[in-house]
Amino acid sequence: MPEKTHWKKMTNPNYMGDYSIPEGCDLIATIDYVRKEKVTGVGGKTEEEVVCHFSDGNKPLILNKTNMKTIQKIYHTPYIEDWAGRKIQIFYDPTVKFGRETVGGLRIRDFVPAQQKVSLVCTDCGSTIAPAYGKTAEWLSMYTHKTYGKELCAACAQKLKDKLDAQKAPDPLGNKQEGMI
Ligand SMILES: [Zn+2]
Repeated sequence: MPEKTHWKKMTNPNYMGDYSIPEGCDLIATIDYVRKEKVTGVGGKTEEEVVCHFSDGNKPLILNKTNMKTIQKIYHTPYIEDWAGRKIQIFYDPTVKFGRETVGGLRIRDFVPAQQKVSLVCTDCGSTIAPAYGKTAEWLSMYTHKTYGKELCAACAQKLKDKLDAQKAPDPLGNKQEGMI
């Protein structure tokens, strides 16, 4: 087993994890600095990890070997100091394995990101998208972009969902459809 990163670390709320990025979406983040630091896992165990900090407000990402190799490949330098200011495109890969178990994890695309970071301005009302439903603002922006083709705040996304639901064939039982935007 070349990598020894317990999958539970990926659920540490202080760091970027599976929950940070909706499946099928990519998050573009700008590297501020990368350094070794002590990380206390969810179980209370502290270990030294390589952590990537971002300059655009995203939670830090614990880097494993696979992701470090990807950054080296796309920017042609193994030196972490040279990674500062570079953008990486992060996505959730459900096929990532830990040992024999498929646990899913965050991976970095093996190309230099072309697009800008996610917009946090609601396309419909112009207000700043705020965290809601236990999700970050970035998550909502990515999710609504993927689902509705535009970035929406929680209120506007709900409004649009209600409108779209109303246009659908009525439920034979007359139940109002529940569920998150
Ligand atoms: Zn809005």
